[in-house]
Amino acid sequence: MQVFKFGGASVKDAEGVKNVAEVLKQFHGQKITIVISAMGKMTNALERLANSFFNKTENAESVLEEIKKYHLDICQQLFPSASHSIYTDLENTFVELYWAIEDEPTHGFDFEYDQIVSMGEVISTKIVSAYLNDIGLTNKWIDARGIIQTDNTYREGKVDFELTESLVKRDLIPVFNSINIIITQGFIGGTSENFTTTLGREGSDYTASILAYCLNAENVTIWKDVPGVLNADPKWFSHTKKIDELSYHDAIELTYYGATVIHPKTIKPLQNKNIPLYVKSFIKPKEKGTVIRDGEKRLNIPSYIFKIDQVLISIQPKDFSFIAEDNLSDIFELFSKHGVKINLMQLSAISFSVCCDNNVEKINALVTELQNQFKVLYNSGLELMTVRYYTQEIIDILTSQKIILLEQRSRYTVQMVMKNEIAE
Ligand code: ASP
Ligand code: MG
Repeated sequence: MQVFKFGGASVKDAEGVKNVAEVLKQFHGQKITIVISAMGKMTNALERLANSFFNKTENAESVLEEIKKYHLDICQQLFPSASHSIYTDLENTFVELYWAIEDEPTHGFDFEYDQIVSMGEVISTKIVSAYLNDIGLTNKWIDARGIIQTDNTYREGKVDFELTESLVKRDLIPVFNSINIIITQGFIGGTSENFTTTLGREGSDYTASILAYCLNAENVTIWKDVPGVLNADPKWFSHTKKIDELSYHDAIELTYYGATVIHPKTIKPLQNKNIPLYVKSFIKPKEKGTVIRDGEKRLNIPSYIFKIDQVLISIQPKDFSFIAEDNLSDIFELFSKHGVKINLMQLSAISFSVCCDNNVEKINALVTELQNQFKVLYNSGLELMTVRYYTQEIIDILTSQKIILLEQRSRYTVQMVMKNEIAE
């Protein structure tokens, strides 16, 4: 039993869906659970819908029309017959969405967000499942909300592995007695009260990994538009190299520091059961890609993770007293309360500095509250460069024409918060 994950880019249009079928043909007769994301940029569009519904940022109905049109255009290319059952199925799904935005919101934003945004995956899997069935890749569509069980932390559902595992055993495994392919949604789950949750943006990789864990899968493959895990993001670096093999440990470190190639939560469940993870190109599916598995081997090339739009917050007690444990626990509590994730932190005698993504709303709320107790300074428009397996030469190159505001080095990793040197 294998688990495959196809992300939004792989099913962004009709060609993409056809290509998924081509990839699957190579695995004829094998048992595969396929996890699929929302098509293309539909999660962003659905976020706009949730915002327009909740915050009246734009006309919700016209955003929904756009979303509907995008999917129907793809369907018209995949299902030429207007009487195909997919059209009624999707019509019903869209009616539900219309109903969801018709009345005023009744719950908090995060709840409403999950009920709306989750539909991207529901729709994409319906389309892919119907298409594959039409061309003879017989599969069963499974609703992930009845399998992946979470608490009710909307937008960041915490998975109940025990319950999920029992549902996988009860509802997924028997399907393979008669069918080789299961299609289900990434990113979404359900609560004990049958409400929908999401697992955090880009969470479909994590779904694949949860299911692999519960199914005791042989392996997981994430099919991407890049040849595998690269040592840097081609968006920022021109000479990237593909990494053939990566240890779980290195993979966790790289995703933790912000490498976006796989979701940071993906590795742990796989590591726990020693399930290898392949990252491969859906454009060249026969090529080897990257394998992430148990191993001691350290990477023999440096990896770079570059983040822009960072803020550095420096927190000092108003009375010049040392930043002691009491202060720190207050500070951490506020970060967690406002949902601000820390990318880097450093403690000195009278100040505590934290680098995080500049999510303006969250940061403003956090800073306002911190200011009741502390003197707070902050600096925005910064970059955070992380290099795993660095050398001094690399640091020198990366920091020429930069001003370093904060730096941290461990044996294998260096992190630098910096900004451009302003030309005199
Ligand atoms: N569709 C969701 C997102 O774009 C989940 C995923 O793609 O992994 O965040
Ligand atoms: Mg996506």
